[in-house]
Amino acid sequence: MAKQEIGWGLVGASTIAREWAIDAIRAQAGNDVVAVMSADPARARDYAQANRIPVSYTSLAALLADPNVDAVYISTTNELHKAQTLACARAGKHVLCEKPLALTLADAREMVAACARAGVVMGTNHHLRNAATHRKIRELIQSGAIGTPLFARVFHAVYLPPHLQGWRLSNASAGAGVILDITVHDADTLRFVLGAEPVEAIAVSQQAGMAKGGLEDGVMAVLRFDNNVLAQLHDAFTVKFAGTGVEVHGTEGSIIARDVMTQRPIGQVALRTSQGETNVPVVHENLYARGLHAFVAAVRGEGAPAASGEDGVRSLATALAVLEASRSGRRVEIKYQ
Ligand code: NDP
Repeated sequence: MAKQEIGWGLVGASTIAREWAIDAIRAQAGNDVVAVMSADPARARDYAQANRIPVSYTSLAALLADPNVDAVYISTTNELHKAQTLACARAGKHVLCEKPLALTLADAREMVAACARAGVVMGTNHHLRNAATHRKIRELIQSGAIGTPLFARVFHAVYLPPHLQGWRLSNASAGAGVILDITVHDADTLRFVLGAEPVEAIAVSQQAGMAKGGLEDGVMAVLRFDNNVLAQLHDAFTVKFAGTGVEVHGTEGSIIARDVMTQRPIGQVALRTSQGETNVPVVHENLYARGLHAFVAAVRGEGAPAASGEDGVRSLATALAVLEASRSGRRVEIKYQ
């Protein structure tokens, strides 16, 4: 029988774990964070103490040797995700990994294959598909409320908060830049709400001075999906007052969602048809807790993670195509293998 108590090891003493994931794990009955690993001994100790985590380690091997660790949450910088996932799978630990899964499609594929071989559950922490708003948009589209979807627009130009203005703006080898950080979320969100896969991308990026070394801190892109939908994306680290949103326009109606590309359980969904405009009620719920709930259920043999490893691969493939399109100036076919 699947184990009911799940001990979590945090791979990475990160901001996202501190701000969202630790609470989301602790919100699941029978789950707790039993250990954290950081490369820096003082940070490991301080982080453990500040977050009431009983044990800290400075090596992944030590964390994986801890018999109380059943599952890991990997939230280190992106270049580390692959090797850490492979090691965790080898140790038989279930893996919830942060996005982008890796820096190349081949690496991400290898991570998914390793988890499958080891028989452990793998999920990608694409939190947005857990939002009540996005689930409602998907439901409206599936119910035919807007007829045949033709276009989508994602507004995800935000201001990177000062406490996150580190490696994302300068460390190319860690996968810095707005496309691997934000566009990858748009890709996953659109794949989820449309129930379709992107097939080609065009993009133009901007360097407005916040990111260094030629890295992009803003981008506008267009994706074509395999159901013929065209989606326009606007992502940035540099814009303070744009607000976020998603729109999907179909033959019989439009969905207009505002304040929905965010970590917080907020936002509104409106439906415009020949009947006029109505606000569609949603029951907001913590996105990360919902994602953890699905992952924990999967570990217990019930259902699947909200975003699987395969979802992480596909959303990464789309972001990589946007990156290539923006750097080459060419239209890029999205490859999943
Ligand atoms: P952080 O910069 O907070 O943490 C990443 C790593 O940086 C940590 O593992 C840590 O290394 C090191 N680090 C943390 N604080 C310090 C410090 N004060 N001085 C020196 N090094 C430090 O990253 P984020 O939490 O913003 O992102 C981590 C991952 O999560 C990324 O893959 C990102 O893309 C993803 N993410 C996902 C989000 C989502 O909603 N799904 C939202 C935000 C991020 P060590 O572990 O060795 O101590």
